[in-house]
Amino acid sequence: MRDIKEKLQIIKDNNLFRNIKYLSKPQDKYTNIDGKDVLLMSSNNYLGLCNHEQVKKSAIDAINKYGLGTGGSRLTSGSYDLHKKLEEKLAIFKGYDAALIFNTGYMANLGVISSICDEDYYIFSDELNHASIIDGCRLSKGKIIIYKHNDMKDLLDKINKIDPKKGMIVTDSVFSMDGDIANVGKIVEIGIDKKLITLVDDAHATGVIGKTGRGSSEYFNCKPDILIGTLSKSIGSEGGFVCASYEVIEYLKNKARSFIFSTALSPAVINGSIASLDIIENNTNIVEKLEDNISYLRLGLKKIGFNVTCESPIIPIPIGQEEIALKFSERLLEEGIFIPAIRYPTVKRGEAILRMTLMATHDYEDIDFALDKISKIKSEFGL
Ligand code: PMP
Repeated sequence: MRDIKEKLQIIKDNNLFRNIKYLSKPQDKYTNIDGKDVLLMSSNNYLGLCNHEQVKKSAIDAINKYGLGTGGSRLTSGSYDLHKKLEEKLAIFKGYDAALIFNTGYMANLGVISSICDEDYYIFSDELNHASIIDGCRLSKGKIIIYKHNDMKDLLDKINKIDPKKGMIVTDSVFSMDGDIANVGKIVEIGIDKKLITLVDDAHATGVIGKTGRGSSEYFNCKPDILIGTLSKSIGSEGGFVCASYEVIEYLKNKARSFIFSTALSPAVINGSIASLDIIENNTNIVEKLEDNISYLRLGLKKIGFNVTCESPIIPIPIGQEEIALKFSERLLEEGIFIPAIRYPTVKRGEAILRMTLMATHDYEDIDFALDKISKIKSEFGL
């Protein structure tokens, strides 16, 4: 046990210790932390649907009809008609033959990558891919080749050098910390040309990019072989999913261990997700409002000296030193805004950021308020 104590001390000494903040109000634009109402600018609930009346009602209706838990894994007795309905809806929404729900997006990446990529596979993975992709690659028996972030030349060079018989290219579409968008169109082109499977993680793209919020396929007008998504971000619920051909989905049902060996998601979560998808399908104006907020904030950040180029609701404010990022975040909380400091290992050492996110429910006054406080604290820190 002394070993753990020493390791924990090292984490603390390096300003990398993580403290959980407990919220006592919903993930809405204003939440409550330690008894204080604060502006929430760190949620992945991009469209504000997790607290939507229709979504909550659907979840409650499902509890009334089915109860709370599912009593088993999907392949035993845990699957309800609702799971099938959501899978069919997700497949249509994303333009695929079929879909399969996992309990989290993390488990989807873990199960899909590890069950497809055996020892004959080369996996080409972007250096900034999400931890769940990294862990899925590690759990697989494939040989992992990391290419430079969103660098198509480096990707092609690495593929050409190896000339693999079997392989997969894996990438986030919207990167979870940098908020930039992978060149998914080119990646799909390379995949077709080199006969490699393409797997794209649309966790932060679903409900966010593309004219109607359908994600990277709509944004780039292309179709990766396998598309991963989460229900936990713009859909405002929890869970993960994969969209692909019938054969791939049938294979995954039989092979993906994180699907097979875990109890199915609650009917409340599934029915709430169905209601959310309905809202996104029928109200493209919320996707447009989010887009508008992103442009407004980007412009405002430029005015106060932060050059931010990204097109997604994830806006990283570069700080650098972990200690300063932590203090900056604490000052923001004192001023009434919750924007967490993101540090190693989520980002590189010495490249700590404030990860600011926008929701469609924010309005210009909220953004102006945040900009004013960020600018004030920036001056305090001499940045
Ligand atoms: N993929 C990406 C790109 C993510 O950012 C995340 C979560 N932050 C996940 C997958 C995992 O999704 P979930 O939170 O539903 O497990």
